[in-house]
Amino acid sequence: MSTTKPCPICRKPRSAEFAPFCSPRCRDRDLAQWFGDGYAVPGRPAQPEEIAREVLRGEDD
Ligand SMILES: [Zn+2]
Repeated sequence: MSTTKPCPICRKPRSAEFAPFCSPRCRDRDLAQWFGDGYAVPGRPAQPEEIAREVLRGEDD
């Protein structure tokens, strides 16, 4: 009758403090995976050339 799911990273029993993970290490690992796949996520960060354009526009005023 247990509804407790394991840590999605290492499959160990999860900790209530770090749910749904078992430890801060697994939580950080999940975050790292997010950043690693960041290029596939909609809403990419601005391209460097777009940032440069904004800087030039600011100096022009
Ligand atoms: Zn874990």
